[in-house]
Order: sequence, then structure tokens, then C-alpha cells
Amino acid sequence: MFRSWRLLQSTWSPTSRPCPEKPKKQPDLVDIVDKATRSRMMSGIRGKNTKPEMIVRRALHKAGFRYRLHVKDLPGNPDIVLPRYKIVIFVHGCFWHKHDCKYFKWPRTRPEFWKHKIEKNVERDQAASKQLENTGWNVLTIWECELRKENHLDTLGKLILRIGCPDAI
Ligand SMILES: [Zn+2]
Repeated sequence: MFRSWRLLQSTWSPTSRPCPEKPKKQPDLVDIVDKATRSRMMSGIRGKNTKPEMIVRRALHKAGFRYRLHVKDLPGNPDIVLPRYKIVIFVHGCFWHKHDCKYFKWPRTRPEFWKHKIEKNVERDQAASKQLENTGWNVLTIWECELRKENHLDTLGKLILRIGCPDAI
């Protein structure tokens, strides 16, 4: 009943965004896009242990939930898996996964390149969700912008309620 369930959509402060990779490692990005775009892209890199993901993990752990991380044998390698509850959680960056929020904007440079890349990510996300749901998993997606300083408590509260007491919301 909570398929493709989404938490409250809001905003995510650019200043508090993580930068998991140093620009040095990504000369191609550094060279082709302006500073604002680059910072947006860097923040959305799908990496392990990103700041938004850590926020979710910490909250779950504190609430007593135990989980597995980056499970390779499940479609889409979900970031967080709660086997006992049959729940997988994806923590998605708004840019890379094309969130329908004010933080997603197409880069001005190389539009074809980005369109292809991002649309591929979206297709992969949809296919993974479908496969997971078809095999009995509940798929929850938490967006980077839902974990901003001013709304993360609300988001995490709902998430914990959803896992522990799914009929409550
Ligand atoms: Zn967003």
C-alpha cells in the first residue's frame, strides 16, 4: 500500500550539501560546467556513505532498527535494507535521480549528455523499484532535499513511524 512512497517534499540547503569527491578527481566535470552546476552535481553523486544517507542511518540506528547497507544482491543495490520489515530505502540525490523539486535543474552545458545520463538513472531506478516490489519488498525513497536542516526531523519521524507502525500514516 505504500508503494513508491515518498516523504514530504521540501528543500535542501545547498550550503549543507555533501561533497563526497574532491573536484580534482573529476576534471571532466570541473572543466565543463559552471561552479553552481558543479556543486549541485558533486552533491548528488551516488556514493556510499553520503551525508544524507548517514542522516538516515543514524536516525534508524538510534530508533533501534537494524539494517544492511548497499546490498549488492538486490536490484538497484539499495542503500539501506531492513530485511525484517521487508523494506528497502534509497537515499537519492535530487540531481542524479531527477527529483521533481526546485533543486533539480538541467545543466546548461552539454544538454544531450546530461539528458541521456540522468534519464538512464531514472529508468534504472524505476526498473529496480519494480523488480523489488514484484519480489515483495516495500520501496521507500528519501530525497536529499527532504533531509535539509529544517525538515529532516519531520522526514525521519515519518520514516520511523512508517517502518515501525506502517498503518499510522
Ligand atoms: Zn529534491
